[in-house]
Amino acid sequence: MPSNRQVNINTESVDNYLKAILALGGPEEQSVSSTALAQRLGVAPASVTNMLQKLASARSPFVEYEKHRGVRLSPEGKRRALEVLRHHRLIETFLYEILDFPIEEVHDEAERLEHFILERFEERIAAKLGHPKIDPHGHCIPALDGRMSKQDSAPLIDVEKDGEFVVDSISDRDAKLLKTLKAHSITPGAHLRVTKSPHELVLRAGKGSKPLHLALSAAGAVRIRSTN
Ligand SMILES: [Zn+2]
Repeated sequence: MPSNRQVNINTESVDNYLKAILALGGPEEQSVSSTALAQRLGVAPASVTNMLQKLASARSPFVEYEKHRGVRLSPEGKRRALEVLRHHRLIETFLYEILDFPIEEVHDEAERLEHFILERFEERIAAKLGHPKIDPHGHCIPALDGRMSKQDSAPLIDVEKDGEFVVDSISDRDAKLLKTLKAHSITPGAHLRVTKSPHELVLRAGKGSKPLHLALSAAGAVRIRSTN
């Protein structure tokens, strides 16, 4: 096999792999198993292995991959992943703030557009929005140099006893859940009263909004922080 094999793969799918590795690796940048990656991307484990081998053998590889250890981003891969994430979150903010898209629709649009915008376009969007640091889901928008401020938050599912919290962020990946939460005024920054029971959480945001009974299986999508 030639050592400098040129890899010719669709940019969109490469970007999606890099973003998924970034998200699954978390702030500690842990290595990610191909099974976890296959689940997140909704593709067969064999295609994931195949793709990772291609990515790792490129001339300036985006990933470091060993079959039994999983995969990590190379510095170049991390740079690209953060750039795409910045595009994604800026586009979501733009669609929400300027074009008045409903919150549950911005993610799918951004998934398509994020791969194609260039620096000039990205700069204009950022300037128009006043260089936002947080997107409408409550997630940090990476700065131009890739820096991201750390968010001090915890998954709602980890709440141990009843109490009051502030909604920090909500996953953008489930449009239906986003819509339901919005209908109950559960949006980033909202104050939230949480009551636990064995199979569900009862959530109340603000006065006058009806309580939402959220299955524990859905509670991973919401992150909260303390009220002070
Ligand atoms: Zn999104």
